[in-house]
Amino acid sequence: MGKSSKDKRDIYYRLAKEQGWRARSAFKLLQIDEEFNIFKGIQRAVDLCAAPGSWSQVLTKKLNENRPKDAPPPKIVAVDLQAMAPLEGVIQIQGDITKLSTAEQIISYFEGELADLIVCDGAPDVTGLHDMDEYIQAQLLLSALNITTNILHPGGTFIAKIFRGKDITLLYSQLKIFFPIVTCSKPRSSRNSSIEAFVVCQNYTPPKDYVPTMINPLLDLSYGKQNELLGPNRVIVPFIACGDLSGFDSDMTYPLEKKSLDPLQPPISAPYLTAITLKQQNFYNKVPQ
Ligand code: SAM
Repeated sequence: MGKSSKDKRDIYYRLAKEQGWRARSAFKLLQIDEEFNIFKGIQRAVDLCAAPGSWSQVLTKKLNENRPKDAPPPKIVAVDLQAMAPLEGVIQIQGDITKLSTAEQIISYFEGELADLIVCDGAPDVTGLHDMDEYIQAQLLLSALNITTNILHPGGTFIAKIFRGKDITLLYSQLKIFFPIVTCSKPRSSRNSSIEAFVVCQNYTPPKDYVPTMINPLLDLSYGKQNELLGPNRVIVPFIACGDLSGFDSDMTYPLEKKSLDPLQPPISAPYLTAITLKQQNFYNKVPQ
């Protein structure tokens, strides 16, 4: 949660700090839950691409709130490429969701059981080149789906960030192979100006004889005619806006009533630190142009 001028004014950024969430993204998962009631009966959950950890905080709160008396504590596993500050009750794995070894590590924590809920807020570093960003995001979502087919219980739920670009129908088709109910949802706290949305995929039902593997890519996103899903092949999934629609608008600027707060959980090791050190050492001026 950096302190860019846009972020400083953002109402959800400020609310997150006031309410003790590590990132404003917490509100996205909370608002998805308001619409879909995703935490009911959940005991084992996986948070893919979890750092800095606000979705894991939401999972911890909701799974404990919903836990019947005398039931064992919920199991929550969080995975990210980056290190994440510890969170009570959350098992952390620093790993890559595109790797089979990561799936195996997650399964080992569930002692032979599978997960009931898998969430993924994964995002690559955005380049600003829309086609490229959509493509990389799609690949990350497919990696999340791939790992999900290894660790999700039949009947379980998978929620993932998606960029609503021009090839979205291909992704929907892939998801529909595994989930009979796929909905595209846009929480109120997700900026309207962003193409980000979240697919809520319910009732995991893998095809008969489907053998999960991390090897085969699920989707060849080549842009040729053969991959176009047009006419009757086009997949249309319902789109739902969620969160209190008369509540705070994430694209609006609200006056700052209280003193600005520091980030709750500053990055452990920010990716730009190496660049700053190199700049201080005058490295970039020495590189031949
Ligand atoms: N949901 C998080 C929260 O509420 O705090 C925020 C997630 S942040 C938007 C996206 C994360 O995706 C980053 O921390 C990044 O390291 C992670 N990520 C991107 N690619 C990944 C990969 N292949 N494996 C694991 N994590 C990845």
